[in-house]
Amino acid sequence: MKVDWSKLGFDYVKTNVNIRYEYKGGQWSEMQVTEDEYIPMHISTTCLHYGLECFEGLKAFKGADGKVRIFRMDENAKRMQSSARKLCLPIPTQAIFEQACYECVKRNIDFVPPYGSGASLYLRPLLIGTKVGLGVKSSPEAMFIVFCSPVGAYFKDGMKPIKVVIDRIQDRAAPRGTGDIKAGGNYASSILSGEKAHVNGYSNVMYLDAVEHKYIEECGAANFFGIKDNTYVTPKSPSILPSITNKSLRQLAQHLGMKVEERPIAVDELGEFSEAGACGTAAVISPIESVFDIDTEKIVRYGEEVGPVSLKLYNMLQDIQYGRAEDIFGWTKVVE
Ligand SMILES: *Cc1c(COP(=O)(O)O)cnc(C)c1O
Repeated sequence: MKVDWSKLGFDYVKTNVNIRYEYKGGQWSEMQVTEDEYIPMHISTTCLHYGLECFEGLKAFKGADGKVRIFRMDENAKRMQSSARKLCLPIPTQAIFEQACYECVKRNIDFVPPYGSGASLYLRPLLIGTKVGLGVKSSPEAMFIVFCSPVGAYFKDGMKPIKVVIDRIQDRAAPRGTGDIKAGGNYASSILSGEKAHVNGYSNVMYLDAVEHKYIEECGAANFFGIKDNTYVTPKSPSILPSITNKSLRQLAQHLGMKVEERPIAVDELGEFSEAGACGTAAVISPIESVFDIDTEKIVRYGEEVGPVSLKLYNMLQDIQYGRAEDIFGWTKVVE
């Protein structure tokens, strides 16, 4: 095995094994460990046609002390359960989810990038409806897979603020749709606007609420937060995916003595923040340099420097992930 840790991006790298469980006849199978990177599948499998699938994303980090830590997998387990529930898919138990993630890291431990490289091991749990049929109905059969891939540091030369665009060409999710679960279909309904943004030099699209197109929902596939008057403000809406990074940042902000607000944030309020960012597992925080609104042609700038609060929160979270700070919240699981 030869991996150049410094050259890693966010791409699939083949590792030793992946972990699988099958749900059939009303129960989950024993854990299967396989080197096979393929899933044999009938052409009429429901996940291929009707989008009955959901996924998760989390990371394991090699710490300063040489230990490998998985970050908040209990939270990812709960979120996958809520996704499965809404998609009427068989629900992986908390134990199955955590066991699969743990074993996946343990059996691919050589693929956890070394401390100091800024890289990490990304875990991708995947739940797919595997019932063969043609009619639109729920799938009483499923496969739960966890595979992993080493991924590079998101910011190779330090954090760099990103340009964001508000484009009403596409709504990511509706209030009573699937925006609050991690379903692949949400990505399908935002790919077009994302591509357009990239072509025009923006890193991310800021999605607005689908009813009034007035309130901020998400920033690409990440949650949004703004900072003003020692307050961490993040949008509240039934069509936002509850980010575990956002939850962690809220807890850290509170720990710092900041106020935390979860409430609707109108686009008009963007200019009132001293800092703003997008947050998610991939980058922890992507500070926002500017937000350009295509329709009104208004631009709000936060600047090319990372704001002090964003930097502080980012460092606190990474210190816990890399074992440099005491895990006072009990967020990490050490792989023995
Ligand atoms: C995965 C995801 C996030 C980030 O969630 P984390 O748990 O922090 O990684 C935010 N928004 C959307 C739409 C997502 O799919």
